[in-house]
Amino acid sequence: RHIFLNGSYVPEDQAKISVMDRGFLFGDAIYEVTALVDGHLIDNGLHLARFARSLAELGIPLPMPLENVREMQIELIRRNQMTDGTVYLQVSRGEAERNFHPAAGLSPTFVAFTQPAKLYDTPAQRDGIAVALMSDPRWERRDIKTVMLLGQVIAKVAARTDGFSDVWLHEDGCITEGASSTAFILTKSGTIVTRQNSHAILPGCTRRAVLDLAEQRGLAIEERPFTIAEAQNAAEAFLTSASSLVIPVVKLGDSVIGDGQPGPVTRHLQEIYLAAARACEKV
Ligand code: PLP
Repeated sequence: RHIFLNGSYVPEDQAKISVMDRGFLFGDAIYEVTALVDGHLIDNGLHLARFARSLAELGIPLPMPLENVREMQIELIRRNQMTDGTVYLQVSRGEAERNFHPAAGLSPTFVAFTQPAKLYDTPAQRDGIAVALMSDPRWERRDIKTVMLLGQVIAKVAARTDGFSDVWLHEDGCITEGASSTAFILTKSGTIVTRQNSHAILPGCTRRAVLDLAEQRGLAIEERPFTIAEAQNAAEAFLTSASSLVIPVVKLGDSVIGDGQPGPVTRHLQEIYLAAARACEKV
């Protein structure tokens, strides 16, 4: 596999970064993930916009114009002969003597790689998954997509140990989001509910795309916090992310959602999202 590292494409065993990199020492880095489905790069404009926003929020300079980032993603996909999987981007503030205060004028470290995977028609998408509940352990700027993911790692590992496939996080009695996904419910009266964007959650690109599609089809939507109890009593529940697309949630904590099967609205959103994905740019 080829890795993009600071302007060059190199074999993976030659892609080396300093131990003094601030991404390694402080988690002082951001990342982005775009899905590739049958050669289509999904919602990449949204992902590149969020990539630029995350960097701007941390005052890390954009390592190259976004159009060049897009060309690099496509070149990496081509070199790695990818048709299905993910393209990962990471930019750290750069390499410097370890000091909380970053030296002036650092050059960001820019890494990108691909990971092959078939992202659609997966068992999780077909059958739905059981999702654990956990108090949200993260910091207050979850809108920035930083590599500081220890809270998510701990939550996901604990969920799996307890026999769940994934985990939704909660704060003040309300669901914030999944550990690596956006959380949605469908109320018994047929309204799709997901939390509004704020510093409390990552503004999901798949969330945006799914909400736009739902709105175009005239489905009722509310962007607001929802409680754990509301989620457990919902007609349907699902999560979205670049790498999972739309996954039905059929159990949340100790509660079965609806009749324990993926519901019709979730199925419909899965279908229209996959169709929209296949209409995205083919690379
Ligand atoms: N929320 C968190 C915490 C995430 O890590 C992710 C994706 O990894 C998402 C939401 C979903 O975002 P997207 O749909 O842009 O992949």
